[in-house]
Amino acid sequence: MPPATHRRLFIPGPTEVDPGTLEQMARPMIGHRGAEFTELYRKVAAKLARLLSTERPVFLATGSATMVMEAALANCVERRCLHLACGAFGERWHEIALSRGLEADIVSVDWGQANDAGSVDRALSTGRYDAVAVVYSETSTGVLSPVPQIARLVREKYPDVLVLVDAVSAMGAIDIPLDALGLDVVLAGIQKAFACPPGLVVFAASERAMARSRRLRNKGYYLDFVSYEKAHAEGQTITTPAISQFFALDHSLDLLFAEGLPAVYDRHARMSRLSREWAARRGLTLFPDPRHVTPTLTCLRSGAIDLDRLHAHMRSKGIVLGKGYGKAKSSTFRIAHMGRIQPADVEEVLAYIDEYLEAR
Ligand SMILES: *Cc1c(COP(=O)(O)O)cnc(C)c1O
Repeated sequence: MPPATHRRLFIPGPTEVDPGTLEQMARPMIGHRGAEFTELYRKVAAKLARLLSTERPVFLATGSATMVMEAALANCVERRCLHLACGAFGERWHEIALSRGLEADIVSVDWGQANDAGSVDRALSTGRYDAVAVVYSETSTGVLSPVPQIARLVREKYPDVLVLVDAVSAMGAIDIPLDALGLDVVLAGIQKAFACPPGLVVFAASERAMARSRRLRNKGYYLDFVSYEKAHAEGQTITTPAISQFFALDHSLDLLFAEGLPAVYDRHARMSRLSREWAARRGLTLFPDPRHVTPTLTCLRSGAIDLDRLHAHMRSKGIVLGKGYGKAKSSTFRIAHMGRIQPADVEEVLAYIDEYLEAR
């Protein structure tokens, strides 16, 4: 087999994987019903609980994040779900609800804007909803949702409403103290800020969410949180897990803790600032409202830039830049800076973009 060309990924998932993490993927298989796997499972779950500052069990599901977006609805929506959308992934979550035959409404703001707690309050005051679903870091637009404010409002005024959070491009890059925030379900795929090859979803459910799940029927076999809870107590998974990804995730979590979580979060904030300051100097317009910017990627309006040529130039430098997503596909590009990406890497990428812009 010829060696694969390594183009460095500055796309919002999958992200660059550390060579040490990649090596873990080549470890010999172990049986998933043996003591060795249970030890690995418990170690990884404990590290994740530490990351999320939670007393709750943290579960691991084999699949992609969308699977647990669906699972969260199957386990937590008894009456009607309120979906907050400010981009493609919030819209998708609503579509998933409808595809399961659930009652669901969507409150959308323009792409690039953020949903706010006030509109959540207005919608929940109708008393129609028992869950609200929100995307923490809307990867399609680069918007960071005010999840702590929304969660505070719900916990104070609507104790029976569950807060479901897609933290796919947020977890591991921003601090998400689950218990303190009072979130009910939080989920993330490991191919974004965890910087692992795709295949596992990290998620946790509050006691409130588990109580709802225990009551609900027709959750599906693979998506039942109660099964995850039972398996977790045994240090097991309900079916054959992506064992290689467990090895990888264990290693990538060690990298996070070795760097120190405050330093990790600060690094992401710095990379975002660096990119935005560069864009301002270059006269490029940020796509998201500057008051609501996710630290994990910078989404910019392309304006007069020929995107095909820009992406081709970047590829010639061994770099894959993020394209626009969904309806912003042809009008934006995204510089993802999450996971193992360092500020110096971002500076390098920005310099290559400069090179292209100056040669135009
Ligand atoms: C990537 C992403 C998803 C989808 O994840 P999959 O692993 O492809 O299912 C969902 N939500 C957000 C915010 C994402 O960034």
